[in-house]
Amino acid sequence: MKKVKFYFPDSHDFVDPSFDFEKETNNEHRVIQRDDKYAHEIFSSPVYDGILVSKAIVEGLSGVKGRYSVAQRQRFFREGIYRFFRLPRSYETIGDCGAFSYVKEEEPPYKVEDVAEFYTNSGVTYGIAMDHIIFDYESDNVKAPKIVGERLEECLRRAELNLENASKFLHVSKSEPFTPYGVAHGWSPSSFADSVYNLQAMGYTRIALGGMIPLKTKDILEILECVKDVRNTKTQFHLLGVNRLEYIAEFHKYGVTSFDSTSPLMQGLKDDKFNYHLPNHKYTSIAIPQVDANNTMRKLVASGTVNQDDALKLEKLCLDLVIKYDKGLASKESVLHSLCEYEKLYLKDAHLKSRRELMDKVLTDKPWKNCPCEICQEIGIHVILKRAAARNRRRGFHNLFNAYNTIRKELEKIPD
Ligand SMILES: [Zn+2]
Repeated sequence: MKKVKFYFPDSHDFVDPSFDFEKETNNEHRVIQRDDKYAHEIFSSPVYDGILVSKAIVEGLSGVKGRYSVAQRQRFFREGIYRFFRLPRSYETIGDCGAFSYVKEEEPPYKVEDVAEFYTNSGVTYGIAMDHIIFDYESDNVKAPKIVGERLEECLRRAELNLENASKFLHVSKSEPFTPYGVAHGWSPSSFADSVYNLQAMGYTRIALGGMIPLKTKDILEILECVKDVRNTKTQFHLLGVNRLEYIAEFHKYGVTSFDSTSPLMQGLKDDKFNYHLPNHKYTSIAIPQVDANNTMRKLVASGTVNQDDALKLEKLCLDLVIKYDKGLASKESVLHSLCEYEKLYLKDAHLKSRRELMDKVLTDKPWKNCPCEICQEIGIHVILKRAAARNRRRGFHNLFNAYNTIRKELEKIPD
């Protein structure tokens, strides 16, 4: 039994296994999602212990479409989460509302009964009570509290609403097949503790701690320390959206038995500087944006700032050179020179020496050659190219692989 489980929140993250990296084309007969592969289908060892799925992602919200097409959504409910994700039963699944998507609303846009029905229809192992995020936070020890007056009233209103809904949800879920989680929100360590106290009094033994994404590690530890005083020994905590891999063993001391995060994947896709992660070092990826598909490039060409033919030539040159470099057929200097020339077209700080140094570092170390993950083994240098989803998402998966191994190592430190 794993002491702390890592859930990966689904956001339709899969890759086309037949993508042709030379021709840069998807298989024309591919059916999206059905023929694609999730991270748990790509790696021979797990990269997460379970999947978290949000009602807002699957169904969309107040007229805004979710990530799923109508056909995918229908199949999701027909088949259930395990068959839809082709997920072995050894994985656990957890459902939530996706409270971030309606944080600005006065109240959650769902009824408690709808949420429970969503979990039952999805076939998840655990379902998290419908919550409303409290976005304010300050320590109990500040000399001049800022959360007062209307701000405090709003925090109190949301905390009250969360408890009311948690109570209803616990009642409704008694006749449903999933195991319920209450959600504790707060604007200070003591208000989190109050919330946990009340949820336990209702009968919850599993409690998710929410709204912690923007908090610093020291704040999270301060909350857990305060919550410790009211925690029943049986109560298990889930940290919603918290990614502090090096603190997992520490969190476990306070009763944390699971958490979820998209960070390893998202950093692979979005972080500009350090988006290729190894256990002991984070590297930059090498950007070679597609002139005809990258938004920045398209705008620059459309506005006449960049000449399309010049850009296309440089793009192709960069791509050819990095591949040749990987095979030992081009010098690092020639690759760096072309990459920096290309950067000048689309990056404001392209002249910075530090950019060149970061790229130099990754080209010198060639970390993709030493990473044991299936992605690096299969696609080699393509994993560090920042260039459309086929590569970027695979780099995110590679980060997941390394994040999970870091978690495993941290968990080994916990005595039995
Ligand atoms: Zn790798």
